[in-house]
Amino acid sequence: MAAETRRQGDAVGGAYAITGTLPTIADVVAFKESTATFDHGYYRFVSHPHLRRLEAELKTRFQCRHCRLAESYQTALLELILCLHPTGRPGRIFVLGSFPEATALADGRFLPACEGDGLSIMTLQDPSRVPADLGRQDILVLGPGADAGPTARIAREHGASVVAAIPTPLSEPPEAQFFVLGLSDVDGGALGGAVLGNADRVMDRLAEQMKRRGPVLSSRVAERLLAGAATGMTGAHTEANARVAETLCRMEGGSRAFLYASGMSAITRVLDLLRAPGKRQIVAVGHLYNDTYQTLRIGETVFLGVAELERLGDAVGSETAAILTETITNPLSDVPDLRLLSRVAHDRGVPLIVDNTIATPINCRPFEIGADYVIHSTTKYLNGTNDHGGGAVIVRDERRARELAERQMLMRDHMSPREAAVLETNLSSVSGRMSRFNANALRIAEFLAGHPGVRRVFYCGLPTHRSHSVARDLLQGFGSVVSFTLREESLDGLRAFYDSPLDGIRKAPSLGSNVTLLCPYTMLTHYADSDEELAEIGLPRFLARISVGCEEECAPIMESLDQALRATVQRG
Ligand code: PLP
Repeated sequence: MAAETRRQGDAVGGAYAITGTLPTIADVVAFKESTATFDHGYYRFVSHPHLRRLEAELKTRFQCRHCRLAESYQTALLELILCLHPTGRPGRIFVLGSFPEATALADGRFLPACEGDGLSIMTLQDPSRVPADLGRQDILVLGPGADAGPTARIAREHGASVVAAIPTPLSEPPEAQFFVLGLSDVDGGALGGAVLGNADRVMDRLAEQMKRRGPVLSSRVAERLLAGAATGMTGAHTEANARVAETLCRMEGGSRAFLYASGMSAITRVLDLLRAPGKRQIVAVGHLYNDTYQTLRIGETVFLGVAELERLGDAVGSETAAILTETITNPLSDVPDLRLLSRVAHDRGVPLIVDNTIATPINCRPFEIGADYVIHSTTKYLNGTNDHGGGAVIVRDERRARELAERQMLMRDHMSPREAAVLETNLSSVSGRMSRFNANALRIAEFLAGHPGVRRVFYCGLPTHRSHSVARDLLQGFGSVVSFTLREESLDGLRAFYDSPLDGIRKAPSLGSNVTLLCPYTMLTHYADSDEELAEIGLPRFLARISVGCEEECAPIMESLDQALRATVQRG
């Protein structure tokens, strides 16, 4: 195996960057094959240096090899339980002690209904009541102050997982296999959570699960925790959060908005809420963002392409929990017929969830077409400066709002007020930025479509795109995600293009950035997929994706693209 090397990559977004550069195809390969580690990267996949320092401190303090940080103690506990107990398998959780999460576990509010399926949960005061036949499928949670005596050791000997739940730091933690910690500032304000453990396989699985589900700790919060300073953030719900929520409601035409730690966190919160035993199925329309797709692949999902909507009526049945789509899909820029989706959803009494990240409310307001939930990764266009991670769910309906509010009260999974403050500043300029995003992207898509070094361009603003007429009907602008393949569709061709200097373009994952970003999309997101798997989802292996920025002048971007494309043409 190749020795792991450390690569710096540049942070994109300053001190709290949410992404980092991958300057060459060799860097992309090293990232995917884990033969190098990166100081900066997309925030759900590569921990920010502040998070890594905090993890290192906690690992030393608890003598554990692994640490995963989370936006709250409650989500840390939830994620660990979900990881220890994958959906649908029979098993038992015994909780020793009485604390708010124990009560919520016992009365069925803590685990999402679908995930809790197959589990029996019991809270106990007396450790002698824990049955002697505990096995690998069982979990013993030791609540604060619970004196488990020899029970914990016996449980571990029988292969059960023993979790110590520690909402406020203790000097002497109980004996356990996993620790779930609450992280507080010096005033005792709850700011985050962590899971620690030595079980390599479980902790690796947890890391992958949390990258996908998105309950991340803000790098700004980690910095404050490291400094041991009072943060003045004792109430999770601050003024900035309230103002951002209000602005998003106004922009989208909703009545309540809920802010989360990431876009994926927003998506999983809604799915967790809607899926229930007997109603587990999601109908997913279009080629969705990769982590949404991976999340849905684990569950019961019917995937329909935007050109297969004649099958929608048959796909939606009594077991369907929701229809989920994106206004403009990533990376192929398809635009599902939201009018049709909305008609079928409401005829069948099924909610319609629309991820409006790529269109933004400037280009489309899905509630006006009948959406029930509108979702954003605020990390993208709404913020634009690559220094904020977050997500939002907006609803119109009081009952849906109440359900989300109750869940958020329980899980404490609010966007950090520090992230909300950054978002608030940048939201004020999104309307002007969006018109430049739209205009620049159209120019660049047209330029690429006419370039001899390019084979195919995917941008719904081009009349040749299969979604163009739907896009014209539904959108005020086509957004700025432009994907394309090179005339020479091969790894060498892609390398010749991507490894060129490309001045003015940052080679980094993410989209919706004010500065233009480029990535080899399929390599980054579907690295290990076979040709058959890629063909099934219609994704070219050597696809490049540009998230065109809102620069005042886009001629220099075209100039750089032209030079890099010429390099590939000259090869051929
Ligand atoms: N939805 C879409 C359309 C996205 O493109 C992304 C991320 O790229 C997400 C959701 C997830 O957002 P986040 O990365 O902030 O969790």
